[in-house]
Amino acid sequence: MSNRTIPLDDRLYDYLLRASLREHSLLARLRAETAAHPRVSMQIAPEQGQFMALLARLTGAQRCIEVGVFTGYSSLALALALPPEGRIVACDISAEYTAVARRYWAEAGVAEKIDLRLAPALETLDGLLAAGEAARYDFAFIDADKEAYADYYERLLELLRPGGLVAVDNTLWDGAVADPSDNEPDTVAIRAFNARLHGDERIDLSLVPIGDGLTLARKR
Ligand code: CA
Repeated sequence: MSNRTIPLDDRLYDYLLRASLREHSLLARLRAETAAHPRVSMQIAPEQGQFMALLARLTGAQRCIEVGVFTGYSSLALALALPPEGRIVACDISAEYTAVARRYWAEAGVAEKIDLRLAPALETLDGLLAAGEAARYDFAFIDADKEAYADYYERLLELLRPGGLVAVDNTLWDGAVADPSDNEPDTVAIRAFNARLHGDERIDLSLVPIGDGLTLARKR
């Protein structure tokens, strides 16, 4: 027994899912449909979706922002966890990928909770700030182009209320962040992003080793 975070081999991971996953049937179907997608690795793990839904409820989230929708797994998980008046501003640039998301949002009856903005996310976030929306959001999720993470983060920190939470995906980047010989642009960007948050006194911080690493930053 160790007090380090336990590594998950396939058997233990399967157990974790069997012992705790409560996946809505539409989430399961969306995951099955996306499994055939060439970019399936962009989809979050089901236990991560469940964890984020729990976080949204813990923070009493009503107004949310997602940067990076892909085929909609995380936004669907989040929307299902929100109260009826809950809303998500969902940012993506792909009409093709988000067409799948729209189909599932509609079938799940949560389409009216999700405001899809097909535009570069920085434009959308800057637009919200310009419209006086600073400090009016409760929960945000970043899962998009890694080199822009720091820019998304700064906007979202302004948009969140004190006590609001931003969750950031892929912050362990398949382990590459800890490999000093890996200097791919995405790896370098995530490493710099992690270092920036580590020293950021505006937030409370935890890097949770779920999925590919999920950083939680609570605005102070
Ligand atoms: Ca991701």
